[in-house]
Amino acid sequence: MRATGTTPLGLADAYGRVATDLRVSLTDRCNLRCTYCMPEEGLDWLAKPELLTDDEVVRLVSVAVTHLNVDEIRFTGGEPLLRRGLVDIVARTTQLNPRPQVSLTTNGIGLARQAQALRDAGLDRVNVSLDTIRQETFLQLTRRDRLKDVVAGLEAAQQAGLTPVKVNAVLMRGVNDGEAAELLQFCLDRGYELRFIEQMPLDAQHGWSRDTMITADEILEMLSERFELAPTDAATRGSAPAESFTVRGGPQTVGIIASVTRPFCGDCDRVRLTADGQVRDCLFARKESDLRTALRAGADDKELAESWRRAMAGKLPGHGIADPAFLQPVRPMSAIGG
Ligand code: SAM
Ligand code: SF4
Repeated sequence: MRATGTTPLGLADAYGRVATDLRVSLTDRCNLRCTYCMPEEGLDWLAKPELLTDDEVVRLVSVAVTHLNVDEIRFTGGEPLLRRGLVDIVARTTQLNPRPQVSLTTNGIGLARQAQALRDAGLDRVNVSLDTIRQETFLQLTRRDRLKDVVAGLEAAQQAGLTPVKVNAVLMRGVNDGEAAELLQFCLDRGYELRFIEQMPLDAQHGWSRDTMITADEILEMLSERFELAPTDAATRGSAPAESFTVRGGPQTVGIIASVTRPFCGDCDRVRLTADGQVRDCLFARKESDLRTALRAGADDKELAESWRRAMAGKLPGHGIADPAFLQPVRPMSAIGG
């Protein structure tokens, strides 16, 4: 139940946007080392006392849902399947009232084992990251030989009814950019919804370069050589970041998330919570707002909601990647929660 006597005000910013979609990072650790995300040796992981406990995660999610009008929760990381309490966190989140939509972004390793339990806990959907279906390319890109586990995870997600199963792919020049069409065919054959994400400057190694990234235009051109694509109705896009195209007359579609070359900041409805309890109003934010300290000091729900609202009020109008003065955020993608 919503707290009685309060009208949830929502997470509005100064540019008229209201965040209703919360991304919660459950860990900064990962069992892959995707080159566009993490260095080979990994990172300095957060120490356990810094991480929100399962109860603390659920408490903050509950504040967002019952006091701040958030209606979508996505658990991510790092690799969220590495979080021991994941199934329980999902179950408790889906029991909130009003019930939010609950989804997971994962690299798929271990999903074969957990998909049914997650579904039983109420998980609605899953996005699995898969950049290639070739074993050698997978090894080169992720530095781990785990392609089979990801493919098994995708199958299990579909069998468990975590549908539509979405696949996220990042293309890297000279590595897997020649494989876009075969990845799409793989997804079409299995009924997965593929979305390409433009590589963003969020890797810990600062290896991103505008000159070498594969753009949305290039992706469209490559796919169009093998598939007939037509834009779906732009009016249905809303705040969804993916531009969607029907493939060969539909009904199946492919999406492109052109965060760099066609930013959609003006329609952004997202807010993020890191695994150590910091609110981020944008992936590219250079400032965070600490909720963990207040939470551990005994703040009540209303006080936490008020701090959260204040944190969002300062959200900038755009990420500014194209600005010559752009500075990459200190935390990499894996620690923010993608
Ligand atoms: N480990 C999980 C996974 O890979 O799905 C969840 C976290 S990961 C940070 C979330 C998403 O961010 C993945 O789809 C990944 O491909 C994407 N990602 C990571 N680094 C990126 C970058 N530099 N640019 C674009 N997308 C990136
Ligand atoms: Fe791990 Fe996901 Fe980053 Fe790959 S993209 S290293 S799977 S957190």
